[in-house]
Amino acid sequence: MHILFQTADTASQDAWLRDLRSALPHAEIRLWQAGDTAPADYAIVWKPPFEMLQAHPELKAVFNLGAGVDAILQLKVVPEQLPLIRIDDGGMAEQMAEFATHAVLRYYRRLDQYELLARRGVWKPLEPFDKADFGVGVLGLGVLGQRISESLQHFGFNVSGWSRSPKALPGVTGYAGAGQLNDFLRSARVLICMLPLTPDTAGVLNRDTLSQLPRGAYLINLARGGHLVEADLPPLLESGQIAGATLDVFHDEPLPTSHPFWQDPRIAITPHISALTIRSEAARQIGEKILALQRGEPVLGLVDRSRGY
Ligand code: NDP
Repeated sequence: MHILFQTADTASQDAWLRDLRSALPHAEIRLWQAGDTAPADYAIVWKPPFEMLQAHPELKAVFNLGAGVDAILQLKVVPEQLPLIRIDDGGMAEQMAEFATHAVLRYYRRLDQYELLARRGVWKPLEPFDKADFGVGVLGLGVLGQRISESLQHFGFNVSGWSRSPKALPGVTGYAGAGQLNDFLRSARVLICMLPLTPDTAGVLNRDTLSQLPRGAYLINLARGGHLVEADLPPLLESGQIAGATLDVFHDEPLPTSHPFWQDPRIAITPHISALTIRSEAARQIGEKILALQRGEPVLGLVDRSRGY
């Protein structure tokens, strides 16, 4: 079996090759170079150049080195007939659950406000929030959203979730489709975005939707910068409709130093680290999927091009 490997992040390519070779010891795995036309069965890629996959019509499938496929679909580099498979979980679900739960607890226990008071040398206990008024809504109930929902339930939060198709998950009040979005939003004092970025979900966090949340709501975006209409957030913070935001992803990354979000103490910023791909785990998962495909078995993570995720 022959496998082509490519990543736009050349600094990590040797480590990836090592982990992939250890996951698939019987395969010949080669680093793609421009002009490579030798036959290959599978390609494992991250933001490949256009010519790479066009030159290999014999491929059986392409593996994307990440959970989100918005970047590779926007590049339009994967021929339509070629199955595209993403990493699902790959060690990211646990990290997302940690990050989201921490952010929710920080708001619920008012630690964001205590941090500001402490910097000013102010010793002032604040009125605790009532958990019954602190419902958490998770946009996207996929691999990552479900894990976040489970984690929050352990802390006693009322959790609701929104997905494209209806879901019946234990302990989660489910809402589905555009018709139920506003009802879902009204139930969420904290809104966590865990959607894929598609033409349907781009800009879903905007003035109109965020205005449906209860007043003084909190926004946590861990999915993609394109979900938030960034210009809509400052006025909502000024009016008190949104009390605080935790943003891990941005329209432009790295977030430009001149961006006003840096100066707003109500916005917590992290550099797209809420869940990092764990290389050895992802390589192991890709290896298992390739072996399953070779046996003619179905695999998880097959991207539906018509849905965009
Ligand atoms: P999944 O594909 O497993 O789940 C996506 C969920 O979103 C599903 O529940 C799906 O509904 C729902 N959804 C999709 N489109 C719509 C829509 N139009 N309306 C309502 N619901 C919709 O994705 P993952 O959980 O694995 O990952 C989600 C995203 O997280 C990734 O696409 C990626 O962009 C982001 N991510 C961010 C990382 C970071 O470090 N910040 C790291 C990893 C991922 P249904 O169940 O009906 O299909």
